[in-house]
This record gives sequence, structure tokens and C-alpha cells, in this order.
Amino acid sequence: MAIELDTIAIAHTPFAEKFAIPRQPALAPAAKACIELIPPYDQPEAFAGLEQVSHIWLIFQFHQALPKANNKPHLRVRPPRLGGNEKIGVFASRATHRPNSLGQSVVKLEKVDGHQLWVSGIDLLDGTPILDIKPYVPYADIIDSSYNQIASEAPDKIAVSWDDSAYQAAQQHSTRLQQEVVALVEQCLAQNPKPAYQKPDPQRRYGVRFWDLNISWHYPVPEQIQVLSVTLHNEDSA
Ligand code: SAM
Repeated sequence: MAIELDTIAIAHTPFAEKFAIPRQPALAPAAKACIELIPPYDQPEAFAGLEQVSHIWLIFQFHQALPKANNKPHLRVRPPRLGGNEKIGVFASRATHRPNSLGQSVVKLEKVDGHQLWVSGIDLLDGTPILDIKPYVPYADIIDSSYNQIASEAPDKIAVSWDDSAYQAAQQHSTRLQQEVVALVEQCLAQNPKPAYQKPDPQRRYGVRFWDLNISWHYPVPEQIQVLSVTLHNEDSA
């Protein structure tokens, strides 16, 4: 049976592309986002009481991982967590290619501002359609006896250091954007975004866009990232 769903909000996040987005929420607390409710859900009565809640669940669509027409369903996936080689069942993973392309993330609710909810610790692409919002309920959602032997702990982090000029630029843009650019870059890059199978050549430059900034870095040694530049993204040259 086909079901139609309404988009109730759009997530405005720092992440213009999928590369270097944290693989789960809360891994980068500096990743702030604005969840903008759209009519008819943009009325204060729809979220009255939410200011009494510290965290919310976002139910969303992986809109940039939609199946192509007549695509065979993915029953097995290769999670990056397992190095990208080992396959597990789609329902044992949080892979983006999945039935109905539905995702869920628990994020910290920082502020309710009119029809905008400001949250932190987001792992969603900019423009992601939100299908529902629910309060986190600690007595039901914290399960003391829970375990996941596939992903038992948060992924290992990698050291991130900066060229002086890149650090200064990040600080200046923090003031302009009223966002913590230094912390955002450090927390996201510490997740070691390159594919696990790739041996990083120190000459190779990696890059990504956060908000309207192009961030570039390299790996002087495989277990360290050096941020090389933070520059304003120029739409014309994109
Ligand atoms: N916490 C969610 C869950 O468990 O359903 C998402 C986990 S998923 C592994 C997180 C990754 O999804 C991000 O690192 C990013 O690469 C990708 N992603 C985020 N938003 C997306 C979107 N709108 N469309 C496609 N991929 C997206």
C-alpha cells in the first residue's frame, strides 16, 4: 500500500554536501541547524510545550538517497563503520539507502524561535525534508540494558590541527555567521570523513562546504588532518 507523507519542516544545516557530515547525531555538537516549520505546521500552537523538552526526534527523508525507478531494494548494505567491505542486513544498519528512505535523529533543542526550532548535533544535509518531530522521552528512550555489538562505541577520532591563516579565517567567519566554525570543522573532521579504504596521499587535498565556507585539508600522515584553508564559497566558481 502506498502512503503519501507531507513535509512539515525543512532542515537548514551547515552541510551543503553529504561528504563530512557526521554519521550520527551528537558527534558534532557544534553542528547547529534551524528546523523551519512550514504551513500549516508553522503555528505556535503546533509546538506549544516544546520548550519543556531538552531533545527532539526528527523523522526525515534521506532525500538525496531516493531509490531510482525499478531499482532492486537494498537488502544488504556495507556500513562505513565496518570499513565499507563487510555487508549486513539493511535493518541491522542505519544506511541511507533503505525502504522508504526514512531517517531518524535525536538532536538537542536549543531554542524555539517563532516557527523555527534551533537544534544542535545535527547529522542532516541542508534542505532535508522533515516528516515529523517528537519529544525525546528519557524514561522510555534511555534503555540501560541496551547494546549494539556492531557499533558498540562512538567511532575513533582523528587529530585535527590548523594552518594559522585557516584558523584565523575560521574565527573571523564565526563572528560573521554567529556559528562556531572552528569547533564545527574540528568536530566534523575528527570523524575522519574520507572512505576507510582510502590511503591518504599527503599531497591530496580534500574539501567540503560548511555553511557558505569552503574548507580544505590534507593528511600529512594518515592519522592526522591539517586544515589548510577556510574561504568564502563563491557561487559563480562552484
Ligand atoms: N541518524 C540518522 C539515522 O540513523 O537515520 C542518519 C544516519 S545516516 C548514517 C547519516 C548520514 O546520512 C550522514 O553522514 C550523511 O552522509 C547522510 N545524509 C544526511 N542527510 C541526508 C539526506 N537528506 N539525503 C541523503 N543522505 C543524507
